[in-house]
Amino acid sequence: MKAFQFVEWQRPGQLRDVPVPEPGPGEVLVKVSGAGACHSDLHLLEAPAQVFALPFTLGHENAGWVEKMSSGAAGFAVGDPVIVYGPWGCGLCMNCRVGMENYCQTPGKPSPGGLGGTDGGMAEYLLVPATRYLISLGELDPREAAPLSDAGLTSYHAVKRSLHLLGPGSTAVVIGAGGLGQMAIQVLRALAGATTIVVVDTSEDKLKIARSLGADATLISGDAAVTAIMDITRGLGAELVLDFVGVDATLGMAARVARVLGHLTIVGVGNAALPVNFHSPPHECSVAAPFWGSIPELIEVIALARSGKISMLVEHFPLDEAGHAYDLLHHGEITGRAVITPND
Ligand code: NAD
Ligand code: ZN
Ligand code: ZN
Repeated sequence: MKAFQFVEWQRPGQLRDVPVPEPGPGEVLVKVSGAGACHSDLHLLEAPAQVFALPFTLGHENAGWVEKMSSGAAGFAVGDPVIVYGPWGCGLCMNCRVGMENYCQTPGKPSPGGLGGTDGGMAEYLLVPATRYLISLGELDPREAAPLSDAGLTSYHAVKRSLHLLGPGSTAVVIGAGGLGQMAIQVLRALAGATTIVVVDTSEDKLKIARSLGADATLISGDAAVTAIMDITRGLGAELVLDFVGVDATLGMAARVARVLGHLTIVGVGNAALPVNFHSPPHECSVAAPFWGSIPELIEVIALARSGKISMLVEHFPLDEAGHAYDLLHHGEITGRAVITPND
């Protein structure tokens, strides 16, 4: 089968021929309907050499149909439409047992397919290690659903952990309205209806989309955005600031617009450092950098999508155009999420 693979550090991915995997005991083979192109893949492809073994197939945000159940795998039937939970842990440590495999405590885990040396979904078939990673899509379209498993789940988790701060009169700031930020706006609207949502981006096009998704105010990134947010919050700052970029400029802005006792949440992997001292961020503002989300949270994300409260603007690309999709993402030219459809 064809697979779009990460072959060499600091080089674009390549389309290659690889064998169709055979599911071993407990494993499931999924026929891929869609694999999302996440900005994290660009960070990885552009990074200095790391520890993962190359090559491996990209695509850590996947949906499809059950193709083959091995012996010992139960609960699904061939042809079932499913979304795939991405951060594969050991299944046995304390965090895995409560469904937080994203924070598996076993060294070397989680090992997400498509992100850390294990094959992902930018291929006709994806080998999934256990049925607990599959969640039924119900009537959701498998070609559209893949982004829910990362852009959706990561944003959902980042919002949910701060929900207690987002009552009437509160403000949530979303910095970066790309794939993840667009989901965060919708999750905020659905879960924290009373909060004022302020969205900051460098692109006027992205801000237009943010308004259509329910943002109350949209601002071009920079000093004027800081002034505007302090006006909106009557000089107090925002209860929650979600940074989906993570570069010096956005972390600096986040620290200036967060509030005393607020949350400053770094989701973007821009990898800049945030100076923390007595004066900044504001007193008792908690800073966290969450990674992905849990299996129960993905079940909740699918429920939200099935109720029509969240959806992703998807642009489809055939497998042999995966490289082109990443080029467009690199240049900020993907409107919502690029999804590779290997079986179209
Ligand atoms: P994307 O390319 O779709 O969106 C990025 C957005 O940020 C774009 O709208 C862009 O215009 C905007 N932007 C860029 N520079 C900006 C600036 N200085 N100020 C304001 N906005 C700016 O990317 P994505 O796929 O949504 O991913 C966003 C980030 O989240 C990436 O760094 C990615 O690696 C990271 N990520 C983290 C996790 C996690 O678990 N923590 C999971 C998935 C993705
Ligand atoms: Zn991702
Ligand atoms: Zn574990």
